Amino acid sequence: MLAPYTTLGLGGPARRFVEAATAEQLVSEVAEADRTGEPVLVLGGGSNVVVADGGFDGLVVKVASEGVSVSRDGEQVLVTVEAGESWESLAARAVAEGWAGVECLSGVPGLVGATPIQNVGAYGQEVSQTIRCVRAYDRRTRHVVDVEARQCAFSYRDSAFKRDPGRHVVLAVTYALDVSGLSAPIAYKELAGRLGVEPGERVPLADAREAVLELRRSKGMVIDPADPDTRSAGSFFTNPVLSREEAEELETRAPGHPRWDLPDGSVKIPAAWLIEQAGFAKGYSRGPARISTKHTLALTNPEGEATAADLLALAGEVRDGVREKFGVTLVNEPVLVGCELDPGQPSVAGAPE
Ligand SMILES: Cc1cc2nc3c(=O)[nH]c(=O)nc-3n(C[C@H](O)[C@H](O)[C@H](O)COP(=O)(O)OP(=O)(O)OC[C@H]3O[C@@H](n4cnc5c(N)ncnc54)[C@H](O)[C@@H]3O)c2cc1C
Repeated sequence: MLAPYTTLGLGGPARRFVEAATAEQLVSEVAEADRTGEPVLVLGGGSNVVVADGGFDGLVVKVASEGVSVSRDGEQVLVTVEAGESWESLAARAVAEGWAGVECLSGVPGLVGATPIQNVGAYGQEVSQTIRCVRAYDRRTRHVVDVEARQCAFSYRDSAFKRDPGRHVVLAVTYALDVSGLSAPIAYKELAGRLGVEPGERVPLADAREAVLELRRSKGMVIDPADPDTRSAGSFFTNPVLSREEAEELETRAPGHPRWDLPDGSVKIPAAWLIEQAGFAKGYSRGPARISTKHTLALTNPEGEATAADLLALAGEVRDGVREKFGVTLVNEPVLVGCELDPGQPSVAGAPE
């Protein structure tokens, strides 16, 4: 069963399951499966997937390669990390060593190899700000390639890797971090408030990390076996980004709604606000699947008794409720493996998908 390999605790059996302890083994397992036409699922920490109850009819390769190497590059260090290393361990080490740039990403679960896939981000930082290069196996050309940051085409919870799913297997990631005891400028208002500083100020790295971990724990966003709200895949929906016209349409339905105006004229809307205003409060449940009692965006399997179908039914209900009320279609953030969200009825207002 794949359920124990995912933070949601969902997912049926794999036809075949191997652990790849090195990058070479990862490449050879995937290449061999490709040669025989066997479907492949590359699995990291399982913290951003919903795996179908029917499981995965193919090879699941669990990434378990380890190793970190560090070199100096002027005022920065280049930290090259194997895909199977824990992200949180890397974030903790960076803070302890005095390397700035990933301190606000403390507490994000999962492995290093997955961080470029959806451009992991939180509290005003994204890995796109520090990734220098991604070493990957290109399943199309069957070569190991070094993908420079600009070729990764990072954007909000997105990258060239995510837009071309399954093509690249990430083997290692190189991050360029500033050698500094101080954090990058604090960009997130709530975090600045917690730290008692103005946005844009810098604070000691350890303070930034502790404040982020505190905030995350209060929202059930740090994996804790004792906290059923953390049996999730993190945020289930991304914050929708609307064009100017779509934002105007929303303004007529919800005057004065919270928004972040982006430099290109588009407008990002907090998905949690839309969900709450559509009538789904924290703790709302549908059968054994539940919205986290601490964070509206996280859908959970609190008692471990839900199926993937239960969770997706809840996700569909929330998405449809928001679409009906606001004409905005929420998009799921976790990768759905062997299952999908029922498309539901399209909204009359047209949806920004
Ligand atoms: C409690 C909680 C809080 C979270 N908070 C955040 C947050 O603040 N910000 C955020 O961005 N995310 C967050 N997440 C989501 C998740 O932790 C990240 O997306 C993380 O990077 C996923 O890593 P993983 O190793 O678990 O990937 P998995 O879930 O194993 O895989 C996710 C996808 O990436 C692919 N993949 C994994 N490894 C590789 C590889 N080496 N090569 C190619 N493809 C690969 C998989 O095939 C799959 O499609 C949270 C999740 C949880 C459970």
